[in-house]
Amino acid sequence: MSLLASKRPGSAPEHPAPAPGHQEVRVRRGERSGVTMAVAVDRTLAGRSLGGCRMWHYRTTADAVRDVRGLAHSMSFKAAAAGLPVGGGKAVIALEDAHKPSGSRRDQILRDFAELVESFGGRYITAQDVGTSLQDMIFLSELTDHVAGHPIDRGGSGDPSAYTAHGVEVGIRASVRGPLSGRHVVVAGLGHVGGELARRLHEAGARLTVTDSDQSKRALAARLDASWVEPEEALSVEADVFAPCALGGILDRAAALSLQVPVVAGAANTQLADESVADTLRGRGIVWAPDFIINAGGLIAVVDELEGFDRSRVERAIEGIADTLAQIYADAARNRTNTLIAAKQLARERLIGDLNGNHA
Ligand code: NAD
Repeated sequence: MSLLASKRPGSAPEHPAPAPGHQEVRVRRGERSGVTMAVAVDRTLAGRSLGGCRMWHYRTTADAVRDVRGLAHSMSFKAAAAGLPVGGGKAVIALEDAHKPSGSRRDQILRDFAELVESFGGRYITAQDVGTSLQDMIFLSELTDHVAGHPIDRGGSGDPSAYTAHGVEVGIRASVRGPLSGRHVVVAGLGHVGGELARRLHEAGARLTVTDSDQSKRALAARLDASWVEPEEALSVEADVFAPCALGGILDRAAALSLQVPVVAGAANTQLADESVADTLRGRGIVWAPDFIINAGGLIAVVDELEGFDRSRVERAIEGIADTLAQIYADAARNRTNTLIAAKQLARERLIGDLNGNHA
């Protein structure tokens, strides 16, 4: 078994870190599976970091390590901004091809991964992410205690997507500064989160235009009386809100210039192709809800499990996303800056609060 550890305690990062902390990345080739996997701990709070395990195809180990570092770093921002008592961590299992492993092959990979998680002695807690399932979390929890996101019938929070969708609905309301009834919302991506969000918006009386690259989602669109457009048309639909709920990087400069909405607020992670797009959106007078603020509902639910899951406490915390966004919009307006900068600043301030023992 090979274990490569790299640590950079206190070294000067190329980009400003959210707060003094450290990052540790462990990369391991699984003894049973031969599959490369990595865990990054960006920072710990009360001795813990948390973040999902992504099972994904990477071209090289360097690509996987770059991804896990960046994801763990953004988890620190997300957790801090939501006032959660954990630092940011993340894991990737780097598949050699796009083929999704199943059966005993998947078990081998997960057994190797559980050992890697155990090697952190609780400083890294894993959870579900792209490519891993609730079933995988059940399997892992038989091998290590350091798993969050258990099924509801085992005292856990269950599928995080429903909480994420709730948080996005709260965030859309805060962004349009009023009720949703009669508003026209474009939901791009009708997967776990987008599908649930569309159902919630429909219930709240919003008018929907939806899209998905998977044509089978037309059936859900019909049930919600939603208009259907093709993915490439969705960005230029005239509406009150554009809610990106598919993959990251959807908002490049050209996309930002084609939008015909006053608000962009959706679940997708890393929506901006690059950070300058936040200025393009601001320049056009478009309110952008930073993704790591508005999509924190699932993380809020998973972290709550660590203290013994309490649904009403989770729902109150998710409703708090509205106040966080309101503060970010006010800060951005006051400082004449974009909402990404304002959100990162707020996360940094809450991190500093943590470091001083004032847990939000
Ligand atoms: P998912 O895979 O269930 O859904 C994604 C949907 O987008 C699928 O229906 C897919 O067909 C569709 N899609 C893919 N490419 C598309 C395109 N180019 N145009 C239109 N549709 C496209 O994923 P999910 O769990 O619903 O997550 C959606 C987004 O929200 C992701 O970016 C994810 O990282 C982010 N997110 C999810 C959670 C969660 O709790 N699941 C939490 C935080 C952030």
